Amino acid sequence: MKIIMLGAPGAGKGTQAKMIAEKYQIPHVSTGDIFRANIKNGTELGMEAKKYMDQGQLVPDELTVKILLDRVAQADCANGYVLDGFPRTIPQAEVLDKALTELGESIDYAVDVNVPDENIVRRMSGRRACLACGATYHIAHIPPKKEGICDTCGQELVLRDDDKPETVLKRLQVYHEQTQPLIDFYTAKGVLRTVDGTVDMKDVFGAIVSILEG
Ligand code: ADP
Ligand code: AMP
Repeated sequence: MKIIMLGAPGAGKGTQAKMIAEKYQIPHVSTGDIFRANIKNGTELGMEAKKYMDQGQLVPDELTVKILLDRVAQADCANGYVLDGFPRTIPQAEVLDKALTELGESIDYAVDVNVPDENIVRRMSGRRACLACGATYHIAHIPPKKEGICDTCGQELVLRDDDKPETVLKRLQVYHEQTQPLIDFYTAKGVLRTVDGTVDMKDVFGAIVSILEG
């Protein structure tokens, strides 16, 4: 099963992608997580990506597409995957589509997690991330068991540099300009499904499972 998570930054794509990955035993592939791991390890790719990420801008397609195609070509992706944060532009979607078509494959579902802009800034300022394992929490809605510490791996949680309110507003603008057109792209392919992302995360997940198993 190949699934794409769509939605504004902070809509809950990563939260849901992790639950999907666990239930269906497929890898959760997040380009944002790959970039953050590279930044943490001080790689050349990480330093290049950080310049864009800190401004709330997208990392250029040339860099992003290669990373994603290399990742989904790995053996653990043979039975499918859930993509979180990719594609984010029409050219990225076209490259993915072409690569899959060449393999005789296609995306099964593009799930749009719908959350209005008003809710997003509040969500992002409360988000706490584990840069070691990629887990995400929210100080009010989804707190870790021990404040500031990741439940999964015990590392310290951080407020992401790009979750500061001024950067979030820029990211929302970039989302509407460059990523939202993907909704029409996947509607035209007949695979778009929309869920209400404002309800409790378990209910969002229930709606997604109904779609995947419907
Ligand atoms: P994205 O991957 O789309 O950027 P995240 O999954 O990281 O978004 O979620 C953004 C923030 O909102 C996180 O702090 C997360 O814990 C919180 N969150 C996710 N889903 C919900 C929900 N259904 N209700 C409330 N908060 C949520
Ligand atoms: P995310 O973790 O998905 O919120 O991504 C964090 C940041 O990483 C984004 O704001 C972009 O700067 C960058 N990024 C992640 N995925 C992509 C992508 N597919 N295309 C371009 N930039 C990306």
